[in-house]
Amino acid sequence: MATGFFWDERCFWHSGGDYALTLPVGDYVQPLAAGGLPESPETKRRLKNLLDVSGLAAELEMRSAAPATRGDLERVHPAAYLDRFKAMSDAGGGELGLRTPFGKGGYEAAALSAGLAKEALRAVLAGELQNAYALSRPPGHHCLPDWPNGFCLLANIAIAIEAARAAGMVGRVAVVDWDVHHGNGTEAIFYDRDDVLTVSLHQARNYPLDSGDAGDRGTGAGLGFNLNVPLPPGAGHQAYLEAMRRIVLPALDRFAPEVIVVACGYDAAAFDPLSRMMASAETFREMTRQVMGAAEKLCGGRLVLVHEGGYSEAYVPFCGHAVLEQLSGSAIHVPDPMAETLRARQPDSRFDGFVTGLIGEMAENLADMPASG
Ligand code: ZN
Repeated sequence: MATGFFWDERCFWHSGGDYALTLPVGDYVQPLAAGGLPESPETKRRLKNLLDVSGLAAELEMRSAAPATRGDLERVHPAAYLDRFKAMSDAGGGELGLRTPFGKGGYEAAALSAGLAKEALRAVLAGELQNAYALSRPPGHHCLPDWPNGFCLLANIAIAIEAARAAGMVGRVAVVDWDVHHGNGTEAIFYDRDDVLTVSLHQARNYPLDSGDAGDRGTGAGLGFNLNVPLPPGAGHQAYLEAMRRIVLPALDRFAPEVIVVACGYDAAAFDPLSRMMASAETFREMTRQVMGAAEKLCGGRLVLVHEGGYSEAYVPFCGHAVLEQLSGSAIHVPDPMAETLRARQPDSRFDGFVTGLIGEMAENLADMPASG
């Protein structure tokens, strides 16, 4: 069976406001020559373009999707929030929360972005595809039910999961979030639930500043079904693979999901302007290999990756291409032009030893995670 790739040019036309990195232009903040938010179309479009140029696009099942419906959105977001968002979008755009500016038609772009994630999950659960990648834009993992933040306007992954559950297609879902920022929206939406496991690997206290602690484990029936793995700035290839081995894979084993969804951001890469981590394209390839192994073992290989952050226009395409090479089992290989440099720049063994110790402490949290499945 094929690997699906869900994308739509209209998602690339979603526009942000007048920013220099994350700073609103004004007073003492000069507009950038290249302009705009780091959450720009270029990181995503250049990934799609590289897939075309390498020939990998021809091996993937390329699809678009219908926008998520109002009913889909209302399973996660209050009607009043959706009404405010739609009205502002129709009136030319604006900003509803923190760092979420959008232009006219932002509502439709966000609904389409959620629709790509929803359809990717549906097609995998229906057995039409072995696995899938949704090039969703705008991203979703920071969005709370009634408060957008961090470039995220709708909770794409939560909307996709709730649509699949409403259709009776799935019960237990695991979400692995390796975007460098804390997946606070996904965490909040499922915090009291034992049917959706949420695991977030992130740079500690990057964004949001006040969430993502290892002690935040869920509440009520959801106690034990949320895991946070905050890593210190500078963590690189070894730290990410170790965190996957020691925490993420054992948690998936214990939870026994019916499908795994990855919130796939590339902003832990060493060239990202919004983080201070040292991951490389090889890191993302290896994490994909790890999570594919878990999906094979636990849920018939059912795996869906949904694009989140990643703000290096030059480097994100190489990271995404490595993930899609692995996901599809392709023989096509695009070499990472920065591989040698990033291998040389990895933290030394003393730093890796320190981080391994932290990961070991956090792995103790698994002891009180209820075993199920
Ligand atoms: Zn991010």
